[in-house]
Amino acid sequence: MMHVYFDHNASTPLDPRVLEVMLPFLHEQCGNASSRHEFGTVARKAVDRAREQVAAIVGAQPAQVVFTSGGTEANNLFIRGMAAGMKPGQVAVSGIEHPCVTAPAQDLQRQGWKLRKLKVNCDGQIDLADVDAALAEKTALMSVMLANNETGVIQDVAAVGERAKRAGALMHTDAVQALGKIAVEFAALNVQALTLSAHKIYGPKGAGALVVDKRLDLRAVLAGGGQERGLRGGTENVPAIAGFGAACEIAAARLAELSPRLAALRERLERGLATMGAVIFGAHVPRLPNTSYFAFRGIHGETLVIELDKAGYAVGSGAACSSTDNAPSGTLLAMGVEPELARGAVRFSLGADNSAEQVDGFLQALSGVLQRLRTMQAVAV
Ligand code: PLP
Repeated sequence: MMHVYFDHNASTPLDPRVLEVMLPFLHEQCGNASSRHEFGTVARKAVDRAREQVAAIVGAQPAQVVFTSGGTEANNLFIRGMAAGMKPGQVAVSGIEHPCVTAPAQDLQRQGWKLRKLKVNCDGQIDLADVDAALAEKTALMSVMLANNETGVIQDVAAVGERAKRAGALMHTDAVQALGKIAVEFAALNVQALTLSAHKIYGPKGAGALVVDKRLDLRAVLAGGGQERGLRGGTENVPAIAGFGAACEIAAARLAELSPRLAALRERLERGLATMGAVIFGAHVPRLPNTSYFAFRGIHGETLVIELDKAGYAVGSGAACSSTDNAPSGTLLAMGVEPELARGAVRFSLGADNSAEQVDGFLQALSGVLQRLRTMQAVAV
């Protein structure tokens, strides 16, 4: 049985055009980008070109791009790398950040920083009054994601950034999920740093970037051979970086076509879900066009994911990184969703290759699974 993939917020398939760009650097073009010979020059040129492509998709300058091993490292680089040059103060992050923002912020807390979690409303949108309340206290660093990985809800980062700027706080946004699904403009977001990841946009796993305002006193977390202007030591992962660049170029070129196409498929899905009694989280506020996060009362999300997988459909149950434990999603709890309903959450995230037929097939399979589970529950009572 061919499985249909509806978990693109967890990771995406490599675009064949990206693979083409990467292949020579996995094989004959083996040069180290720091070497002076021809092989090194070819590798350096590939990294430089990728730097231009990554900068271009967010409207930044190539010199602002610091390549990392992915979104996790870029988020860690901002939080740890900024804190390294500061005295402990207040760090404020939204209550729905990915663990790779929350965990380094918690580390700062252990080092004497004050950690403030910013509230979200019941739709998963950041509470601007709480941002103001946080900023009333001197705040050194603030991080609010551009789009949430579970709900897909888009945050008004520009408004938060404007407030942060007025209050003298340095602002970062994790744009990993937003890239390639909505327009992401560094300058329009009022941030000093922004995180990207290649494998969410049909690029390879293990490449990402922190795009930074060059005036920041950012310190390296990984010291080494001085690569990336000394901000990220380590021989550049040339194939992955070249692939990341190509993926950015493709993503930028097709955003205007892809985004409405995915939105129409999501609409088709959610019309079907509504007839089955699903609760859809964040349904009434701006969301990424590809994401639908829903639950059915009385049905466990993990069970639904497993049963759908047996039926040939891959969906996620909340954040991929935390789906091994059984705790309800922290994002949903922060939105005030009851734990019982939150345990039912299933994340459906569309990608460029999905079709209306696949969505219809999914709805049919879901209907069958729900019927079976509900019958089993009725018998058990
Ligand atoms: N930030 C968000 C919002 C994510 O969804 C993810 C991936 O799940 C990451 C960061 C981590 O990125 P990476 O997998 O490239 O380390």
